[in-house]
Amino acid sequence: MRIQDIIPLSIRHCLGNYWHLFVAARKKKNLLKKLHGSAVECNICHWQGAHFIDDPWHARTVCPNCGSQVRHRMLVALLDGQSSMTELSEKTIFQGKSVLHFAPERQLRHRIQRASAQYVSTDYDRGDVDLKLNMSAMPSVADASFDVVIACDVLEHVPDDRAAIKELHRILKLNGIAIITAPQKDSPSKTDEDPTITTPEGRLQHFGQKDHLRIYGDDLKERFESAGFSVSVIDASVFPLIIIQRLVLAPPILSTHPLATNQRRFYFAKKS
Ligand SMILES: [Zn+2]
Repeated sequence: MRIQDIIPLSIRHCLGNYWHLFVAARKKKNLLKKLHGSAVECNICHWQGAHFIDDPWHARTVCPNCGSQVRHRMLVALLDGQSSMTELSEKTIFQGKSVLHFAPERQLRHRIQRASAQYVSTDYDRGDVDLKLNMSAMPSVADASFDVVIACDVLEHVPDDRAAIKELHRILKLNGIAIITAPQKDSPSKTDEDPTITTPEGRLQHFGQKDHLRIYGDDLKERFESAGFSVSVIDASVFPLIIIQRLVLAPPILSTHPLATNQRRFYFAKKS
């Protein structure tokens, strides 16, 4: 008698899912053991180890425990008041504020939710959010609804990003802030986009990922300014070297790939 004959299909599927979870957990446990050490630390899950693991282009930049990347840890370090930009902290950005969080990352979501007075999560595709919104047309959101909008690595997926930036400006209150990141080529650079490139392979080759519609350059700032924002651009240089190295707020080994994003930046776009 075969196992298929005595265990119903639904139970076999269930067991299969558990088996995958079990294998993944064992692999992760072995990886963390291999990376035992204290040279680097994730400021999100507080894992410490010899070094982080690689993403496709940047060696040793991803937390093996929670998956945090440079941009997540940079924002948390900023919120923790570890930068020279002391005017930017969890208290000044989020306390008492209404926040709309696009494509909410699990590494940031709960902290931002805890810190803010009103928190709304949104995404175009995902089901685990409060609102389903298309950033470039949000008629269901009234003018001047939010104090803060946060969208990390979202704009490069939006077909009409200029319309999206205008919409962000519209739904923000006066003096409200859009906190934005996007993959961008290392400086000096200009945005590279071509609407005739529509295949996943073409987008991967030109823009770095199968679902990216462009790769930004230094002119991303101007796209926000032309919509009426005043923009501050922040990169790892606002942190002390010891913090950059400890939390890995910049790739420890610079990638030479032409589409690498060695210089991660946060755009603080203020509606003034
Ligand atoms: Zn982590």
